[in-house]
Amino acid sequence: MTERKDILSLLPEELEQALTEMGEPRFRAAQIFQWLSRGVRSFEGMTNLSKELRAKLDAHFCLYEPKVLSKQVSTMDGTIKYLWELCDGNAVETVVMSYKHGNTVCVSSQVGCRQGCAFCASTIGGLVRNLRASEILDEVLFSELDSGKKISNIVLMGIGEPLDNFDNVMRFLELVNHPKGMNIGMRHISLSTCGIIEKFPALAERDLQLTLSVSLHAPDDETRSRIMPANHGRGVAALIGACRDYYEKTGRRISFEYAMIDGVNDSPEQAKLLARHARAVAAHVNLIPLNHVEERPFQPSAPEHLKNFIQILEENGVNVTVRRRLGSDVDASCGQLRRKMQKTQKGGQRST
Ligand code: SAH
Repeated sequence: MTERKDILSLLPEELEQALTEMGEPRFRAAQIFQWLSRGVRSFEGMTNLSKELRAKLDAHFCLYEPKVLSKQVSTMDGTIKYLWELCDGNAVETVVMSYKHGNTVCVSSQVGCRQGCAFCASTIGGLVRNLRASEILDEVLFSELDSGKKISNIVLMGIGEPLDNFDNVMRFLELVNHPKGMNIGMRHISLSTCGIIEKFPALAERDLQLTLSVSLHAPDDETRSRIMPANHGRGVAALIGACRDYYEKTGRRISFEYAMIDGVNDSPEQAKLLARHARAVAAHVNLIPLNHVEERPFQPSAPEHLKNFIQILEENGVNVTVRRRLGSDVDASCGQLRRKMQKTQKGGQRST
C-alpha cells in the first residue's frame, strides 16, 4: 500500500482535486475542509459523510491530533505555554500571549534547530526534523481551541529556523491565511530568521505582507560570529545588503531582533553601529531582555546599560522598542520547556 497522504497540508483547492480524483463530488471537499478547520481529527467524526466515504478517506489519508504533554499558565500575565506531542513522539512548544490588541501565538517550525546560537535553548540537541505545514497549522488551531482565546496574530519565533524549512513554512502561511481556513491576515504574521540570506530573494519573490524579523543580536562580525554560527560565511555586511534588497523589493520594513547580553553586545560603540545598520535599511529595532538559559553562560544586560543603549539608538534616529517579558514563570523562552522535558526523560525525543 502507498503511504497515506497528509490531508491537513492540502489547500482547499488541492483537496477538491484529490476528491475529484477519487470519484467524489466537489462539495465533499468543502465539507471535509470545514471539519478539519474545526479541529476534527478523525474521519469517523465527520458525521455528514457516508460510512463508505469515511473508510475510503481513512485508507487514503492520515490524520493526527496533537496531544497536550504539558500546559502551563502564567500567574503573572496569563501567558500559556503548551508542549505538544506529535505523531512520532517528538515534542514542540507553542506560546499564547495576550496583548491589548489581541492574542498572539508563537509557533515552532522545526523539532530542534541546527543553527547553534550560543544563547538559545532550542538548538542544544541539534535539529531532529522539520515540521510539516499541518503540524505548524495545528499549533495555531489547537492553541486556539484549547485556550478558548481567538488568535489574531502569529509569530514564527518558537523552536526552529523557519527559513531552513522553507517549503513547509510557505505552505503553512498559505493554509493559515486561506479565507476558508483560519483566515489570519499576512500583516498579522511575523517570520523570524537568524539570517539565512540565501532564502531572502525567494521570500521577497512571494511578496507576502508579513513582517520579516531578523535576529541580528550583534552589529559587528566578531561578536556576531561568536554568538551566532549562522554569521560564518555570510557576515553582517551581506546580511544588511540582503535586508536592503528585501525592503526595496517588498516595501515592507524589517525588524531587527536584538537580545541584550551583558558585556557581549551592549556597549555604546555597538549601539552606534547598530543604529547605522538600522538606518541604512529603515529597520525597526526590537530589544529583547535576554532570558538566561541554564546551560548557557550569558546574562541579561544591566538595566543602566539597556537604558544607555536605547538612548543612543534614539539619538541616532532609530525606532526602538523593548519587548515585554511575558510568561517568565512558565519557561516561555524558546525551547526551554522542551529542553526540560528532554532532561527529565533522557532520550525522550526520537528522530524519524
Ligand atoms: N530561528 C529564528 C526564530 C526562533 S527564535 C531566529 O533565529 O530568529 C526567536 C527569537 O528569540 C530570536 O530572535 C532568537 O535569537 C531569540 N532568542 C533565543 N534565545 C533567546 C534567549 N535566551 N533570550 C532572548 N532571546 C532569545
